[in-house]
Amino acid sequence: MERKITIAIDGPAAAGKSTVAKLVAKALNITYIDTGAMYRAFTWYALEKNVDCKDEKSCLKLIDEIHIELRPNNIVLCNNHDVTKEIRQPRVSSQVSYIASYKDVRLFLVDQQRKMAEKHSVVMDGRDIGTYVLPNADVKIFQIASVETRAVRRYDENISKGIQCTLEEIENDVRSRDYIDSHRDFAPLKAAGDSVLLDTSYLTIEESVDKVLQIIEKKTGVKPNE
Ligand code: C5P
Repeated sequence: MERKITIAIDGPAAAGKSTVAKLVAKALNITYIDTGAMYRAFTWYALEKNVDCKDEKSCLKLIDEIHIELRPNNIVLCNNHDVTKEIRQPRVSSQVSYIASYKDVRLFLVDQQRKMAEKHSVVMDGRDIGTYVLPNADVKIFQIASVETRAVRRYDENISKGIQCTLEEIENDVRSRDYIDSHRDFAPLKAAGDSVLLDTSYLTIEESVDKVLQIIEKKTGVKPNE
């Protein structure tokens, strides 16, 4: 049987983590877990229920009634409703970091994330995977790029998906989420001491994926099937 491995990819908003993580998972034929999608689904649900995302007490009440499921092909279900597309809308992006700052929301979602990584080899991306969710991950990557590069990439991605936005809105959203994510008390965004820094500002997607695969092979001996 193949060796079970866990790969953590963390970093700021729109650094291309999910693009790289998906391709790395595909190359190694292992499961990709998008933890940001879980925080986004929670946020979508709060907005559906007209709950103010800055009101912690009201948001925590939703924990008992919310069920989030990550399905193959990056499909995200929230209480059996397919929210895959809706969770990428700016109205969710602008509120998600408030939801993600609540410790009890995090404990609720982290428990599910850890269970997923117990069963299978995974590439998991997020903000606190290497520091908190999977502190014993075999490989930890901290993926960064300049804020301008990240904003342009996310803007292009949104436009190609038909999501209406301006570059200025995206840059403000990225800066604001980075600030809230790295200043929260519980499991903030930060590089794990034993992570490898990957600056993708001047790398193509293919180059970034190759670098991550090289790091994985060096650390674990696991490489894509020829
Ligand atoms: O990865 P993505 O940008 O989709 O994540 C959306 C938001 O979810 C982040 O800005 C952050 O507030 C939160 N998040 C988090 N911890 C994770 C993954 C995402 O706090 N592990």
